Amino acid sequence: MITIKSASDIEKMREAGKIAANALAILGQKLHAGMTTKEIDKIIHDEITKAGAKPSFLGYAGFPGSACVSVNDEVIHGIPNPNRKVREGDIVSVDVGAYYKGFHSDTCYTFAIGSISDPVRALLTDTEASLYKGIEQAVVGARLGDISHTIEEYCRSRGYGIVKQYCGHGIGRELHEEPEVPNHGKAGRGMRLLEGMTICIEPMINLVGDDVWVKPDGWTVMTKSGSVSAHFEHEILITKDEPVILTKL
Ligand code: MG
Repeated sequence: MITIKSASDIEKMREAGKIAANALAILGQKLHAGMTTKEIDKIIHDEITKAGAKPSFLGYAGFPGSACVSVNDEVIHGIPNPNRKVREGDIVSVDVGAYYKGFHSDTCYTFAIGSISDPVRALLTDTEASLYKGIEQAVVGARLGDISHTIEEYCRSRGYGIVKQYCGHGIGRELHEEPEVPNHGKAGRGMRLLEGMTICIEPMINLVGDDVWVKPDGWTVMTKSGSVSAHFEHEILITKDEPVILTKL
C-alpha cells in the first residue's frame, strides 16, 4: 500500500531521518583502518539509542546488527563481524535506519578507508552523483520510471554494473512500503509521484558487471565479478516544489 504522510507524520519522519543521518556523520568522524565491522555497528547502535530511537534493522527479518556493513565486493546486507577489520584502501558501505515516534528512516553512505584507487574513487563519486540525479526527478507528477531511468543512464554511460535484484522503496510506519524504486527502468513509466509520499532512493552500483549472489549466511549480497560495489541512499519527501531529503542533518 502506498501511504501519504500528514504534516505531523512528516515532522516525526524528519526527526527519525536526522537521527540516522547523525549516526552516519559521527561514524564518519571515527572510522579508521583497523576498526572491525562490529565496532562500526556499535557506533551506529550507540548513536541511535542515545537519541532515544531504535535501530530499524536490528532483528528485522532476524538481521543480527543495527547497521548493514558491507566491505568492497559486498554489495549490501553485510553482517557486522568482530573478526572483520577494514583496511587502508577498502570501501565500506554503512546502511542505517532509526525507528522513532512510530516512523522509520533509512540512509546509506559508502566511506573510503584512507586512500583508495582512482577507479574506486570515481565509482563512489559517480554512484553518489547518480543518487542526486535520481532525487532531482522525485517531484509531484513525475513517474517512478523517471527516477529509475535517470540513475541507470548515468551509471551505464560510465560503464558500471547496476544491481537489479534489490531496489529502493517507500518508507513510513513500515521500513519497507510500496512502491518499489528500481535503479533501472524506462522514463515516463510507472506510477505518478504524489505529494506526501516518502521514498528511499538507493543506487547499488558495481565497478564491473550487474550480477550478484548471496553468501551462505543468507544475508550478504556479493558482486559476481568480485569487483567493488558502492551504495548511497537518502529518504525523500515528495512535494510540489523541490524534493526534500529527510535523511540529512
Ligand atoms: Mg533502503
